[in-house]
Amino acid sequence: MDQTQEDAAQRLAEIGQKMVAAQNRFGPTVPPCQLVAVSKTVPAEKIAPFLVAGQMVYGENRVQEARDKWPGLRANFPSVQLHLIGPLQTNKTRDAVELFDCIQTLDREKLAASLRHEMDRAGRHIKYFVQVNVGQEAQKSGVTPAETVAFVHLCQQKYGLDVVGLMCIPPDGVPAGPYFALLAELGHKAGVSQLSMGMSADFVTAIAMGASAVRVGSALFGARG
Ligand SMILES: *Cc1c(COP(=O)(O)O)cnc(C)c1O
Repeated sequence: MDQTQEDAAQRLAEIGQKMVAAQNRFGPTVPPCQLVAVSKTVPAEKIAPFLVAGQMVYGENRVQEARDKWPGLRANFPSVQLHLIGPLQTNKTRDAVELFDCIQTLDREKLAASLRHEMDRAGRHIKYFVQVNVGQEAQKSGVTPAETVAFVHLCQQKYGLDVVGLMCIPPDGVPAGPYFALLAELGHKAGVSQLSMGMSADFVTAIAMGASAVRVGSALFGARG
């Protein structure tokens, strides 16, 4: 193994061990918590060693960037699962439905309608998380906590979307635990089982609060420029 390949395998092993330790400590989930490797801004040649090391689930926050990077990588790794973790405009839903296996940022009815239309057109089935603006911050996307349950049901019932869970990005600079707990409570009320929460700095806390998926970028790929 060359050095780059060895480094990728080692970083994956380290994060994996921390995840397993957290799950053993706080109560394992079935299936085990999933690692979504956040590869935004990471060039394809730096993602490749992680694919070779066996990491198959990735998160990107921009449709255009994913479209530039992933078709080439996927040609060699067809089992890759791509998650969209950034805001989605309705004029990009056609590309998003083509590229992504899961969209974690569903947060308004117009988007739900557009995604339904594009999935039917493409004959593709994708999964969804509803994004919740847990800190009710003006600059962040997501439905409010109070709107969450009704919005999940609207997406499922009116648009037939396969909403599997909730996703959040808590406020910076304050402990995330209470926000993760809020997301877990809302997921329970909405009747969805998956929770996408926790990033490089706080994924252990997220697992303690019941995360089914953590989204880890810089701890795997290094600091973004
Ligand atoms: C960038 C990003 C992450 C990963 O953040 P790190 O701190 O680098 O682990 C997770 N989730 C979302 C929505 C992001 O945009």
